[in-house]
Amino acid sequence: MSPTNAEVFAHAQAVIPGGVNSPVRAFGAVGGTPLFLASARGAYVTDIEGREYVDLVGSWGPALLGHAHPEVVAAVQEAAARGLSFGAPTETEIDLAEAIRHRVPPAEQVRLVSTGTEATMTALRLARAVTGRDLVVKFAGGYHGHVDALLASAGSGVATLGLPDSAGVPAAVVADTIVVPYNSVEALEAVFAEHGPRIAAVIAEAAPANMGVVPPVPGFNAAIRRITHEHGALFVKDEVLTGFRVGYSGWWGLEGLREGWSPDLFTFGKVIGGGLPVAAVGGRRDVMSQLAPTGPVYQAGTLSGNPVATAAGLATLRLADQSVYRTVGEASARLRDAVSKSLADAGVPHAMQWAGSLFSIMFGVDAATNGARDYDAVKATEHWRYGAFFHALLEAGVYAPPSPFEAWFVSAAHDDEAVSRIEAALPAAAAAAAAATP
Ligand code: PLP
Repeated sequence: MSPTNAEVFAHAQAVIPGGVNSPVRAFGAVGGTPLFLASARGAYVTDIEGREYVDLVGSWGPALLGHAHPEVVAAVQEAAARGLSFGAPTETEIDLAEAIRHRVPPAEQVRLVSTGTEATMTALRLARAVTGRDLVVKFAGGYHGHVDALLASAGSGVATLGLPDSAGVPAAVVADTIVVPYNSVEALEAVFAEHGPRIAAVIAEAAPANMGVVPPVPGFNAAIRRITHEHGALFVKDEVLTGFRVGYSGWWGLEGLREGWSPDLFTFGKVIGGGLPVAAVGGRRDVMSQLAPTGPVYQAGTLSGNPVATAAGLATLRLADQSVYRTVGEASARLRDAVSKSLADAGVPHAMQWAGSLFSIMFGVDAATNGARDYDAVKATEHWRYGAFFHALLEAGVYAPPSPFEAWFVSAAHDDEAVSRIEAALPAAAAAAAAATP
C-alpha cells in the first residue's frame, strides 16, 4: 500500500523544516495535512494517495495553460536532451527576452533571473544605483518575494517606517523601507512631501494579489507614476504574478497601455517560466544598461537563463495567445459568479474581488461597498471562514489555495467539466463557511 499524505508529511517534517520548501504549502492557514502531489495534467492534480482534484492553485501562477501542456513538455524534453545548463549565453534567452519585449515594449531590455525574489531585489538595487538614493516605498500587504528590504509590511496609519516582518532581517535594512497603505494617493503624496529627495523607488504589485486580490482603484497606478516622476524616483511595477496571466501584456496591457503610462522597471516571473524557474527584470534601456557587465550594478546567477527553463517559458508564451486569455477569463468569471451565488444562497456576506482573471473571496464584506481596498481592511474581514470552506472543497475533490489571502488561479485547461465539478462542490463548501466560527 502506498503511504498516506499524513505519513509522508510526518517524514517530511523530520528532514525539511515544517515539511515544506515554501511556508504556505504547509496548510498553516487552513489546518490539516498538506497534499503530497504525484502528478498534474491540465486542470487536475493527483496526490500520492491516488485522489484527483480540480486544481485552483496552478503552481501559484505559472500554470496558465494548465499542467504539463504537451507542447511545453516537448520543448523541455528537447532542450534537456541538448544539455541541462551551460553557464554561457544561448539563443533561447534572446527569444524569451524578445517575446517579453514584444508584449510589453517599455521593457526595452530584459535580464533573466531564476525567481521573482531575485527580480525585485535587482530592481531595487538598480533604482538605488541610478538615483543615488536609499529609501524605497512599498505598500502594506504587497508581497515581492523574500527580499530583506521588502519583508516589511507594518501597520496602519498614513505611513509607517518599516519594521521587520521576519526574524533575521536587521532593523537597519528595513529602516530604508517606507510602508504606505495601498490605494491611498494622499498617503503616498505625504511620504514624498516628507522624504521625496531621498526616495529611490516605489515598488507596487501591478494589482495586489498576495493579501487576497485588492485591485488598484482607477487611477492609482497612474498616480504612482505621476508622483514618482515629479520627485525623480523610479516606479517599479511588480508583475511577477500578474504578468502574462491577466492578459497578453500583463496588467500593464490592461491599464498602462490604455492610459498611456509605463513604469521605469517591471519584474516578471511565474508564467514566463511555464513551471520552471525563470523570472526577469526589464525596463528602460538607460536604467537596465547599468547592470553588469555594461554598468556598475552587480547581478549574476549560475542558472540564470537556464536553457531548459527558458525553453519552457518560451513555449508557454508562444502558446498563450489572445484566445487563451479569453478562455481563462471566461472560466474565471463563471467560477467567480458560482462562488458568489453559493455563498449568497448560504447567507454568507461576502465580496468577490478580482483583477483580470485573478480573484479571491472577502468574507464578511458587504458586496455593495467598495470592498477591502487595503491591507487593514483585508485583515478585518471574516477570513476565519475560509478554512471550513477550503476543507469542504478539498473533501469534494477541489484543491483551492490553502490560504484566504491567496488568489485563485484558473487555467486555459479549466473546461466545462472542470468548472462544473467545482460548481457541484460549492453548496456544501458555502454551508461550511456559513457554519464556521472565529
Ligand atoms: N512578486 C510577487 C507579486 C509575487 O506574487 C511573488 C511570489 O508569489 C514574488 C514577487 C516572488 O517570486 P518568487 O516566489 O519566484 O521568488
